[in-house]
Amino acid sequence: MMYDVNSVREDFPILARQIYGKPLVYLDNGATTQKPRCVVEAMVDEYYNVNANVHRGVHFLSQQATDLHEASRETVRRFINARSVNEIVFTRGTTESINLLAFSFGELMVKEGDEIVVSAMEHHSNIVPWQMMCARKGAVLKVIPMTDEGELQLDEYVKLLNAKTRLVCCTHVSNVLGTVNPVKELIRVAHAHGVPVLIDGAQSTPHFAVDMQDLDCDFFAFSGHKLYGPTGIGVLYGKEEWLDRLPPYQGGGEMIKNVSFDLTTYNELPYKFEAGTPDYIASHALAKAIDYLTGLGMDNVFRHEQDLTRYAMERMQDEVEGMRIFGPAEHHDAVISFLVRDIHHLDMGTLLDRLGIAVRTGHHCAEPLMHRLGIEGTVRASFGLYNTRQEVDALVEGIKRVAQMF
Ligand code: PLP
Repeated sequence: MMYDVNSVREDFPILARQIYGKPLVYLDNGATTQKPRCVVEAMVDEYYNVNANVHRGVHFLSQQATDLHEASRETVRRFINARSVNEIVFTRGTTESINLLAFSFGELMVKEGDEIVVSAMEHHSNIVPWQMMCARKGAVLKVIPMTDEGELQLDEYVKLLNAKTRLVCCTHVSNVLGTVNPVKELIRVAHAHGVPVLIDGAQSTPHFAVDMQDLDCDFFAFSGHKLYGPTGIGVLYGKEEWLDRLPPYQGGGEMIKNVSFDLTTYNELPYKFEAGTPDYIASHALAKAIDYLTGLGMDNVFRHEQDLTRYAMERMQDEVEGMRIFGPAEHHDAVISFLVRDIHHLDMGTLLDRLGIAVRTGHHCAEPLMHRLGIEGTVRASFGLYNTRQEVDALVEGIKRVAQMF
């Protein structure tokens, strides 16, 4: 199938906006993506025509809302090729998915002196929940180091695994460097040591197909809003044998089977981990976003964004004097972090904004990675399925213009 980016763009009304009188060039997709009409319309339609609380109602609307919510779980299952819908827990997003796991896994599995392995390029949301759990349990955080090029050092990783290691937590794709980590290999090695693995899929799921059974990870977290879906919804995937054993994270309605003041029993999977009214509007809209993505074809999306990334990296490197791009040349996803000479990232970002170009600046919630690179922050352009080569041209010309001002 031919990928027609211009017709794709028509599905996203916001892309027609002008910013300071210039066409919007939205290159902050790593932070959040824009929403296609079908996603927004699904939310409006459900609020207007279906809305009722799920799971507990005998009445028509409640059952219809429940059917939509549970059909969405099946859509997510298919999207990541999990074995069962019991392995799909709806959360508020990647951050909540990881906090859930850090609490529940910590309660069951971690004791004083145990070790949790994370990588040098994690987002704060895959560091801080583990630090908090380690502090509670007297456990220790170990870090997989990386090369100056931004690739994990697998030889050092292997040395970190020992009898005290309880879990390995690693991002699939770095939100700063764009590095696509060899997670399949990381998982294989961890399993050889009897250690389970959590993969942070916040930055992989929007860009290429993921397959839980092929990866064989034990846990996987991602966010709806980075996937062209709504805010406030995300997923924690966990192998059923793990989720069965782990204790619940929050208590309340939905997650119980029976409650008495003497004894409360917990609901079956996945409801054991879904206390309270779920965001059933968002789960339905997330399924619409997934349908939209799979309709375009994840392979087409991947090829399109890889073309943009290569094109941008080449032009930036060749045409901008003093350009420093962070991250590896190979296995580089649709995120480009850069600095030009000694121009402050905030100045670059602010001036690009005046040209209608939206990029992100700062530490990108990865301060330890910034320390490792010896910098305070970067400018980050991140691509989505609706970006074009013309927008890359606008970015490169914009960077050149700003560079001339300094
Ligand atoms: N992990 C990575 C790699 C991210 O890029 C992000 C968001 O930028 C997160 C986790 C956190 O996602 P959320 O804020 O949707 O929970």
